[in-house]
Amino acid sequence: MSPEAKILTNDNGLHLKSEAKYFFDFDSIDDLKKITDFAKKENKSIQIIGSGTNAIFPEYFSDVVIRSTNNDFTLDDAGDRVSLSVGAAVVWDDLIDFCVNKGLFGLGNLAGIPGTVGAAPVQNIGAYGEEISNFIDHVECFDLDTNNQVRLSKSECKFGYRKSIFQESDNLIIVSVGLSLLKKFEPKLHYQDLKDHSFTDEGELVETVRNIRNRKIPDPKDFPNLGSFFKNPTITKEEYEKNSKLHELKSYDSDNGDIKLSAGEMLDKLGLKGLQLKNIGLSNKHALILINCAYPNGVCTADDVKHAENYLLNKVSDSYGITLEREPIYL
Ligand SMILES: Cc1cc2nc3c(=O)[nH]c(=O)nc-3n(C[C@H](O)[C@H](O)[C@H](O)COP(=O)(O)OP(=O)(O)OC[C@H]3O[C@@H](n4cnc5c(N)ncnc54)[C@H](O)[C@@H]3O)c2cc1C
Repeated sequence: MSPEAKILTNDNGLHLKSEAKYFFDFDSIDDLKKITDFAKKENKSIQIIGSGTNAIFPEYFSDVVIRSTNNDFTLDDAGDRVSLSVGAAVVWDDLIDFCVNKGLFGLGNLAGIPGTVGAAPVQNIGAYGEEISNFIDHVECFDLDTNNQVRLSKSECKFGYRKSIFQESDNLIIVSVGLSLLKKFEPKLHYQDLKDHSFTDEGELVETVRNIRNRKIPDPKDFPNLGSFFKNPTITKEEYEKNSKLHELKSYDSDNGDIKLSAGEMLDKLGLKGLQLKNIGLSNKHALILINCAYPNGVCTADDVKHAENYLLNKVSDSYGITLEREPIYL
């Protein structure tokens, strides 16, 4: 296998100007072993990418950049559940359609999330009261440190809110994801936007979720973005009581007694919706979504994102005493 030089500007959600000198597609463990040999010889690290919808790409990757082409599906009956193994390259929303067509239930609330199956466990993708971790049985990986294939059980993945072990373990390349899905339609509808709906099947749920998302989120085709740029902050009840500035915001009780706040509402209340900072703007539709304002004719880079991020972090910290946490990852 030999690497190619690749322009990645159209391969990341924000369309940031980006290129890699050493780029490989890989399909198998064998490919990964060959790429590891190459990287060792060149004294380079390896950077895995998916479709770049949760990543801030640098202008130049100094590492060897790799991307999976594994589009395999393997289905097995497992009593009252179904085991489904899905290749890392499969587009997440295609998996949703696959499940609807095969009568496999559970993932409907996660319809419409961009990206690949391989990246989905990395930040434990979630939406509308559901998270992928609730359906993960195991994650099949290649360990760059040992050059071996390893299977992580769900508990070994250390899932949390937009969190997993994969965010701290650059050595783990996800090659496929093992899901345990339901045979019966038992939708979770406690989330505000779904509460007042009734659904007879998963197809209806999926269509509704996609419609809600399309109404709320700017279309990445016209307004390149990475979805929510900051996580919703969670603080203790004590911190909340002490900070009267927060009492003007909506607050939600978490299961463990902590208080969850909306990062989007903070930006909105500060009048930042629609603001432009160099080549990055805050969407008019949703303050939490940062868009590339230079698209399609101008050039936007990771430096523009950093500039906007710092500005927003300072604004929120000065006004509310809260340090927001970024959701997308700088590569
Ligand atoms: C419009 C929009 C809406 C969104 N809505 C949501 C939402 O509702 N909920 C939500 O949770 N997210 C949401 N996101 C974020 C994004 O869709 C998810 O995080 C998605 O899983 C990213 O997939 P990707 O293939 O683009 O990963 P990338 O952005 O390419 O990579 C993300 C991270 O995963 C790592 N990675 C990628 N593939 C692998 C692999 N095979 N093995 C190991 N590590 C890997 C990368 O190194 C990087 O650190 C949204 C994004 C956009 C643009």
